[in-house]
Amino acid sequence: MLQETELKQLRQIPQGKDYWLVARESREEFRNNLNTISFNIRGVEISKDRTMIIAGPCAVHSRKQTLEIAKKVKEAGADMLRGGAYKPRTSPYAFQGLEEEGLKILAEARELTGLPVVTEVMDPRLVELVGQYADVLQIGARNMQNFPLLVEVGRYAARHDKGVLLKTSLMPKLNEVLCAAEYLANEGAEKIIICERGISVTTGSTRNTPHPSFVRELRQATFLPVIGDPSHSTGDRELVEHTSDMYLAAKANGLLIDVVRDDEPEVINGQKVCDYKQGLPASRFRSYMEMLRKNNGI
Ligand code: PEP
Ligand code: MN
Repeated sequence: MLQETELKQLRQIPQGKDYWLVARESREEFRNNLNTISFNIRGVEISKDRTMIIAGPCAVHSRKQTLEIAKKVKEAGADMLRGGAYKPRTSPYAFQGLEEEGLKILAEARELTGLPVVTEVMDPRLVELVGQYADVLQIGARNMQNFPLLVEVGRYAARHDKGVLLKTSLMPKLNEVLCAAEYLANEGAEKIIICERGISVTTGSTRNTPHPSFVRELRQATFLPVIGDPSHSTGDRELVEHTSDMYLAAKANGLLIDVVRDDEPEVINGQKVCDYKQGLPASRFRSYMEMLRKNNGI
């Protein structure tokens, strides 16, 4: 953690800058290279030398489903477990998540596997509650510019030494993403990960469009780690491995991949499994991880 005085020094924002604390040019050690800051999330080392893999079910639908997937992604070598207990859903009739019960299941999955938990918080009033269970608080694409939420999450992360996963919005500008990260940093958050989740330019039949070159652009502009989300950016499991390769070629520091069980039913507890089509079956995830270890030495 930065000392108060260091924080104050850093806070001397040059005139006319929209963001500075997260800018590559603000830190001497990052100015002339493409390195990223290193930090630790519950014992997991995040650094420029490692490709971080965050994986798990899009939504926590049941204890059994989540524990099974958690075990599989751990065995395959993932660094963190991600699952949603509160889901941002376009339709009010879609499954909205198990809420606190889902958070408890995620905490149990962490106990079982040792994997740190990444989970989304959508409401500033729920930051304290979600924070009690999460190691990394996710801010979803639709909330990238929810400024009161960014402030609450930034403050909570700073006080409790939590990470923040900031997803890029549906049609983001570089300046907007970095200003969103700046809101977090301005509250003292340091362990910020940016995640490119595709832009919503589509033909109508595809979900989103992956934007790996934006990852590169972000990497050049900030020293924060930037990862790619091949599941949400494509909406199609058949494209997940190749899209992941594109993200890594664009210098992503890691990936966020939805994983389903090999025999995942399309409906659990009467609810359609969230993002079923874009989740990589666990055995395919495992093969892809093996390939990454061999080719990229992760
Ligand atoms: C998610 O991560 O499950 C999700 C809903 O993603 P996004 O906020 O990128 O749409
Ligand atoms: Mn999802």
